[in-house]
Amino acid sequence: MRVNMIGRLTRKAQKLLARIALGSGRECLLCGNRVGRFLPYRDGWRAAPPLMRALRVVGSDLDNYLCPACGCNDRERHLALYFRELGLFEKVRGSAVLHFAPEPRFGPLIEQAGPASYVRADLTPTAPGIERIDMLAIPYVEGRFDFVIANHVMEHVADDTKALSELCRVLRPGGLAILQTPFSNVLDHTISDPGVTARETRLQLYGQEDHVRLYGRDIFASFTAAGFVSRVVRHDQALPAVDAKRYGVNPDEPLFLFERC
Ligand SMILES: [Zn+2]
Repeated sequence: MRVNMIGRLTRKAQKLLARIALGSGRECLLCGNRVGRFLPYRDGWRAAPPLMRALRVVGSDLDNYLCPACGCNDRERHLALYFRELGLFEKVRGSAVLHFAPEPRFGPLIEQAGPASYVRADLTPTAPGIERIDMLAIPYVEGRFDFVIANHVMEHVADDTKALSELCRVLRPGGLAILQTPFSNVLDHTISDPGVTARETRLQLYGQEDHVRLYGRDIFASFTAAGFVSRVVRHDQALPAVDAKRYGVNPDEPLFLFERC
């Protein structure tokens, strides 16, 4: 009886997985598979904190987050699209790249692009080959890198002013920083309060339990004050022919591209 039940559940699970994975309406740029749908983050937008919906926060597409075939998320897919369409993979070839919190599917694309050097960094490394590096004290000399990539990292960093200053310092003049982060166009000013330490409060106020701020429109002023020039481009400018729904990316998420002065 037990064996039969396990067998039925397994067949049901297999059918469900097949329905999710074997459709063809969506396409994952990172694994090349066509899938029926991308899976939501937690329970999608309907389960997001009300304040995040009211502030129309732009970040991950919570309804079309995970690729059921390879496990990549929409932020990796979008970055890969921006890199491909803007010729950034070509620029990575022969360059020195510093990549914070390297994503398991996007990171290898940087490696395949042929950088002269590729430093993978994390405050708490979870895989071999990743250096333990604190963004507030980067152990490299001034002008060491051509590229810095930090995809959804800045919202986790306690002192982002210090972090931006460090990122600027280790980039050569003309070097590029890709600094994706959630933000709200409704807010004039970034919300961040050191008194907010409880995980549940951070979830409600910033959108995730381990975020320490939610950027507002002043994000551009903050980043340029650190020594960057904004080269930010919107999805509709950089990727006008890309069907965001098909590739499972958020068309409201710009590429936060900054150039070191
Ligand atoms: Zn995939």
